[in-house]
Amino acid sequence: MRFIVRCKPGEYAERRERVAIVGAGPAGLYAAGYLRCRGFNVTVYDRNPEPGGFLIFGVLEIHINKERVRKGIEELRSIGVEFRQNTVVGRDILLGDLIEGYDAVLLATGTWKSRRLNVPGSDLKGVLPAMEWIVDYHMWRYGYRSEKPPVGRRVVVVGGGLTAVDAVHVAKWLGAEEVHLVYRRTRSYAPAGERGFREAEEAGAIIHELVTPVEYIGSGGKVTAVKLQKMQLVEQPGAKRPRPVPIPGEYVTLEADMVLEAIGLIPTPPFNGGDYGIRLREDGTIDVDEYKRTTREPVFAAGDVVHGASLIGPAMKSGLEAAEAIEKYLNGEIRWRNS
Ligand SMILES: Cc1cc2nc3c(=O)[nH]c(=O)nc-3n(C[C@H](O)[C@H](O)[C@H](O)COP(=O)(O)OP(=O)(O)OC[C@H]3O[C@@H](n4cnc5c(N)ncnc54)[C@H](O)[C@@H]3O)c2cc1C
Repeated sequence: MRFIVRCKPGEYAERRERVAIVGAGPAGLYAAGYLRCRGFNVTVYDRNPEPGGFLIFGVLEIHINKERVRKGIEELRSIGVEFRQNTVVGRDILLGDLIEGYDAVLLATGTWKSRRLNVPGSDLKGVLPAMEWIVDYHMWRYGYRSEKPPVGRRVVVVGGGLTAVDAVHVAKWLGAEEVHLVYRRTRSYAPAGERGFREAEEAGAIIHELVTPVEYIGSGGKVTAVKLQKMQLVEQPGAKRPRPVPIPGEYVTLEADMVLEAIGLIPTPPFNGGDYGIRLREDGTIDVDEYKRTTREPVFAAGDVVHGASLIGPAMKSGLEAAEAIEKYLNGEIRWRNS
């Protein structure tokens, strides 16, 4: 996978300006490739032991060739992109220090927190956020952690997106005997699409549509079952998908010794809301303008932390657009926004 696009290494003269990129996922990597290739000094800060973001620690090997991702990252290193791994911006180094020390900063920290259902019983042992569990799986798989993530005998995965169907595959690979995928709409409206659900079924999952957990039941502090509310779909004028609403009094219960919640991901900017004068939108994404400028000079932002959890393609495109804007800014072709 190549992260150097729209220019050839060595084609441009070395520049003295320094750019810090926070987050080594597809948005940060494509921006790094573009900017380094245009002669800028580029340093990428990332919390993980290896660059790649969800390309390495989220997306499964059955969907992406990790060796090609690693080769692309090696190519970035070979043209002089500097990677500072195991560095959490906001903890190990402050964003304020990057703003002081660099000519431009790009935030591309993605959505590294799972949304939770918070139904009664959510604190029972065995109820886990699916994305963090998949990241743990990859940390173990690539030798960064010695403990294999726990897996139940009967696993219930909650959700209809890519993380949900991937959790099904990982649960099976780790040895779960039975995996149930529960989704509140029908598969035709699922973000993972018919294909994702078909692949989950082929992996052995039992699919339950039009249900949502309302309670996790436990014994001795451990989850033993999931109480599911039956739902029906109600058309909403102007909306893309119908709304799932509960059918009063109709429930089913599924036995489970593990629950993986995959109901959405939350943007994770590397600072507390409101700090540095960087405005967040109501949904927690970073507010940027058409040049990916935040409300604080010289901080730009791109990728899922700007547009919410999405796909590799939109994250790459957003990173490239931000890199082009940073180049224009450092060339003096665009000024800072008025906000
Ligand atoms: C399980 C799963 C499966 C997926 N499958 C697919 C798929 O099959 N196809 C597809 O197109 N998309 C898939 N996606 C979505 C896709 O991976 C993301 O949309 C994309 O990676 C987002 O890119 P990004 O660069 O914005 O952020 P990310 O890839 O999330 O990278 C963000 C980086 O920022 C770092 N970071 C975060 N906070 C800090 C901090 N404070 N300091 C330093 N570093 C920080 C993280 O370590 C990470 O490396 C999947 C996502 C998940 C979770």
